[in-house]
Amino acid sequence: MTKIFLRKRITGRIFAGHPWIFANEIATIDGAPQPGDTVDVFSGRGTFVGRGYFNPHSQIQVRLLTRDAREEIDDAFFYKKLLQCLEYRKKLGYVENCRLVFGEADGLPALIIDKFNDYFVLQTLAFGMDVWKGAIVDALQKIFSPKGIYERNDVPVRELEGLPQQKGFLSDPFPTEIMIRENGLQFYVDIEHGQKTGYFLDQQDNRRAIRHIVKGADVLDAFSYTGTFACHAAHYGARQVLGLDISETAVEMSRKNAQLNGLGSVCSFECVNAFDVLKQWSREERQYDVVMLDPPAFTKSRENIQKAITGYKEINLRGMKLVKPGGFLVTSSCTNLIRPEQFLDIIGMAAKDARKKIRQVTFQTQSQDHPIVWGLENTVYLKFLIVEVS
Ligand code: SAH
Repeated sequence: MTKIFLRKRITGRIFAGHPWIFANEIATIDGAPQPGDTVDVFSGRGTFVGRGYFNPHSQIQVRLLTRDAREEIDDAFFYKKLLQCLEYRKKLGYVENCRLVFGEADGLPALIIDKFNDYFVLQTLAFGMDVWKGAIVDALQKIFSPKGIYERNDVPVRELEGLPQQKGFLSDPFPTEIMIRENGLQFYVDIEHGQKTGYFLDQQDNRRAIRHIVKGADVLDAFSYTGTFACHAAHYGARQVLGLDISETAVEMSRKNAQLNGLGSVCSFECVNAFDVLKQWSREERQYDVVMLDPPAFTKSRENIQKAITGYKEINLRGMKLVKPGGFLVTSSCTNLIRPEQFLDIIGMAAKDARKKIRQVTFQTQSQDHPIVWGLENTVYLKFLIVEVS
């Protein structure tokens, strides 16, 4: 097997458990590995560091899969890892829907698998993981005997790895509009055409957090996607809920979801640009008891970070202005590069500019089926904050 030796003077990151090895951290490569091959990594002094997969075309040349020199990377490895992922989710109480595999946080870099009860949606985001797709699908078949497995590899990040964007069935074809249950509600999920893997499981714990504050409230749900927060608000006793999303298909699905749950008379949805509408409505001094904001990621690159900060500040300022005194702002950010403390700072600045006092109700992160590994910064990405605004 190819041996890769690291530079003598690299950061402690790799030794502290981070699975990525960048090109500039490699001193020598002993062998001629092909993209996707399994390689052994050694320190500059020659001690075994770990075993992982190689891709010379990526900035991240090796992603480690194990630190145990005796552990082979083969079909059985993936089977065992998926079982471990399942056991962990079961311990945390996720029985039907969960992110079964959350990449690096589960020791399976660049692999995402969402479990929607009997259906699975998979993403292999690096070359070396894509190579094992067959083994991963076999393992899913063996463990779950699923009703269907679907690949949502239609994501640009694959191109950085020299992989094509693609989507399709990894099992026998099946109707891809499925139905899931969450917190006592039901939702249609379109795993073929929906955004990302079709559904935002990362907010599933947070959707419960609005339970008390929406009772009898007039609620605005901006960036409502398929209406999951809106339906939760109605289910928890909101007087009326208005959802806004720019995607016509998402808005149609929201209406269907509200009807499915018998909440059609409480929830309505509009297909609009929420940025424009929030600006206009805050000028018109419209007021809601609860305003929820869950915009898409504002940037994936460090160059645009300042723009993202300005964007979050702006939108939260508008959101706060729309909240009646004593009402609540429920605000999320999924931009990975905005750290949790930084997000709180931004909200603080928005409150100052809006001349509002805020009182924190809760500050959460992604749901627990998306584990956060200390030392792996990228594993914390979602910020979810509820504040009382006056
Ligand atoms: N809250 C949702 C997830 C929201 S994802 C849930 O928990 O399921 C972000 C949403 O913002 C997407 O549905 C996307 O269509 C929508 N969006 C993006 N740009 C928008 C804009 N300018 N105005 C309104 N919605 C927008």
